Amino acid sequence: MEIASTVIELREKIQAWKKKGLKIGFVPTMGYLHEGHLSLVRESKKSSDVTVVSIFVNPKQFGPAEDYRTYPRDLERDRALLEREGVDLVFYPPVEVMYPEGYKTYVEVEDLQDKLCGKSRPGHFRGVCTVVLKLFNLVQPDEAHFGWKDAQQVIILQKMVEDLNLPVKIVPLPLVRDHDGLALSSRNTYLSREERQAALVLKKSLDLAEKLIREGEKDAAKIRQKMIELISTEPLARIDYVEVVNLKTLERLETIEGQVLVALAVFIGRTRLIDNLRIVSGGIEK
Ligand code: AMP
Repeated sequence: MEIASTVIELREKIQAWKKKGLKIGFVPTMGYLHEGHLSLVRESKKSSDVTVVSIFVNPKQFGPAEDYRTYPRDLERDRALLEREGVDLVFYPPVEVMYPEGYKTYVEVEDLQDKLCGKSRPGHFRGVCTVVLKLFNLVQPDEAHFGWKDAQQVIILQKMVEDLNLPVKIVPLPLVRDHDGLALSSRNTYLSREERQAALVLKKSLDLAEKLIREGEKDAAKIRQKMIELISTEPLARIDYVEVVNLKTLERLETIEGQVLVALAVFIGRTRLIDNLRIVSGGIEK
């Protein structure tokens, strides 16, 4: 497994693969890898000839009061995990390679970027789209793998790829959970033991939504209200949002119909966690 930190190193490798006609799979991450990330890597390995993983904590997607500085980082651990998975190349650029002094270009996906997480994290998806477009231009992947854990991110990136005619297929993959149901996240490392226990309330509220929907509840406001009531019983939890929206437009729904996204963001102590379930033609996924 090779590690490239500069554009020149990366391009050399990519061009050699392109010449050979190899199919390139790509998994962008911010590192501090867990089984959620590794599930994307395994999928990429299955469907492509070579797999590139990027590790870059992108300052442009963090707000000024957010955790850019304290975001967990451990390259040696990540490197060992990726080596074991048989990854071909890791792109690990320093910030000045991605954003040299005087950097000025940004990508925005209107409307979609302002909903759900975009409301409480202004500029977040502008940062995400900008870095992902840059990474796509650098890695030139045939397929890029993203987790449904970040459902809004998937929807926004699909729109960006469609609108800008990018020659890459976005492959969304299932959300991976810990044994007790907590959605895996690099930020789970911030949680104390007590908070880790309290954090289970996110999944519990989705279980409740699933139960109500399976029992035939169609009133989205009722489902939302019951989730809010359940989360409010947890003293360490503070709701950022609980929403029931259309999975493509992210517009709030009155009635459960078509493709639905039930999404929530909840602070457990100082840590903001997200989780979701999706209703698609095949049933409920979470
Ligand atoms: P991050 O390092 O948090 O930027 O995540 C990198 C990629 O891993 C994104 O596509 C995430 O959606 C995905 N990911 C993070 N956590 C999970 C999870 N628990 N299950 C599936 N995918 C995940």
